[in-house]
Amino acid sequence: MQTNLAEFIKNSPQGEEAERILRACVHCGFCLATCPTYQLLGDERDSPRGRIYQIKQVLEGQPATAAVMTHLDRCLTCRSCETTCPSGVQYGKLLDIGREVVEHQVSRPLTERFLRWGLRQMLPRPRLFAALFSLGVRLRPLLPRHLRRKLPAGAPRTVSDWPAPVVAQRRMLLLAGCVQPTLAPTINPATARLLADLGIALEQVAEAGCCGAIAQHNGDPEAALAAARRNIDAWWPHIQAGAEAIIVNASGCGVQVKDYGYLLRNDPAYAAKAERVAALAKDPIEVLEAEAERLEPAPDAPLRIAFQSPCTLQHGQKLAGRVEALLARIGFTLTPVAEAHLCCGSAGTYSLLQPELSRQLQQRKIANLQAGEPELIATANIGCLTHLAEAATVPVRHWVELVRVKRNG
Ligand code: SF4
Ligand code: SF4
Repeated sequence: MQTNLAEFIKNSPQGEEAERILRACVHCGFCLATCPTYQLLGDERDSPRGRIYQIKQVLEGQPATAAVMTHLDRCLTCRSCETTCPSGVQYGKLLDIGREVVEHQVSRPLTERFLRWGLRQMLPRPRLFAALFSLGVRLRPLLPRHLRRKLPAGAPRTVSDWPAPVVAQRRMLLLAGCVQPTLAPTINPATARLLADLGIALEQVAEAGCCGAIAQHNGDPEAALAAARRNIDAWWPHIQAGAEAIIVNASGCGVQVKDYGYLLRNDPAYAAKAERVAALAKDPIEVLEAEAERLEPAPDAPLRIAFQSPCTLQHGQKLAGRVEALLARIGFTLTPVAEAHLCCGSAGTYSLLQPELSRQLQQRKIANLQAGEPELIATANIGCLTHLAEAATVPVRHWVELVRVKRNG
C-alpha cells in the first residue's frame, strides 16, 4: 500500500515500522472472512482492511475522529487476520501504533477514561485484585448484571499445594500471572506438580509481576515497557544460573513476554536481554509435547472434551493444533469445534469495555464448543477460561490440570 506519512511521525521508529507494515498490505481482503467483528457487524470499517486504511489516513495526517477510535476499540486484537493474510501483514503491531496516535488526538468521555484507568491500576496488582475480587463476590447480588456474571456465586476453588522442592537437573521459571492466582488458584500448582513429576523444578520469582499486556492494550505502552524491564531484571540472575525456560501458562501473557525482544528493540540497555527472555518464554505445550510418552489423563479428568484454542495461542504464538494433538495422543477424545479460529470475546479487558460484542462472541463460541456434547471444555488462557465459564453448562479448566505423569512406568 502506497503511503505518505505526516511529518509528526515520518522519521520516527514508529513511523518507519508503520510504513513497513502498511506497504505489505495489498488490499486483497482475504482477512475479512476470518475477522470476528466483521462477521458480527458486516461493516468494512470494523474489518482488518478497514482498520488498516483508517490508521493509514491518521498517520498521513488526517485528524483522528471519535468514529475511528470506536472502530479501533472494537478490534479484539485477536490477530486472526494475521493468520489469514497471505502477505504477512503484521496487523497487531500496526494497531498498537494506530491506537497510541489516536489516543493522543481524541479525548475519551470521562467515565470511559476512569474505567480504563481503573482496569490498568487493578488488574496488574494481584493483591489489590484479590481484595477487590473477594469484596465483589460478597456484594455480588448488588452489582450490575454484566459484572455479576463475572463473579462466582459460590466459594472459589481452594488453592492446592505447591509441590515440595524437587532435586532436579532441570530448572524453569514460572510467570505466576496477576489475576490467575485469584480466579483459578489451582492452575499454577498443577503446572508445578506436572513438571516436578517430570524432574523439572519450577520456581516463581517474587520480583517478577504483570507481563504488561493490560497496559499495552489499554493505551499505556510506557507502563508495558516498564513491566517488561522489571521482569527481565527479576529473571536475569536465574537465567544466568541455568534456568532453561520461563513457563507462561496463560497464553495471553505468553504472547506478551514472547514480544519483549520486539518491544525493547530500541533500548540499548535491554534489547539483548529482552531478546533472550523472549526466546526462553514457553507455553506449557512447548515443553510437555516432548514428554508425551510419559503423560496420561489425570484420574478425575473426563475423557470426552472440547478444546478452545485461545487466539493468543493459535494466532499470537502460532501454536495452533499442538495442545489438541497432545491431548488426543495421550487418550482424550476431542469433540469437533466449528469456527475454532474465531475469538471467544474475552480478549483481555474487551469483555468489560465492549460487553455487547463480547457477549455475542461468547454465545457463538459456547454453541460451537458444546455442539459435540463434551463433558468438559479445556483451554489455555485464564481470560478465556473465566469468560467461557460464565456461559458454559459443563466445567471449563486449563488443560494442564487434566494431565499427569504416568504412575505405572
Ligand atoms: S485482530 Fe481480530 S478483530 Fe481485530 S481486525 Fe484482526 S481479525 Fe478483526
Ligand atoms: S489479507 Fe493481508 S494483504 Fe489482504 S487486505 Fe488483509 S491485511 Fe491486507
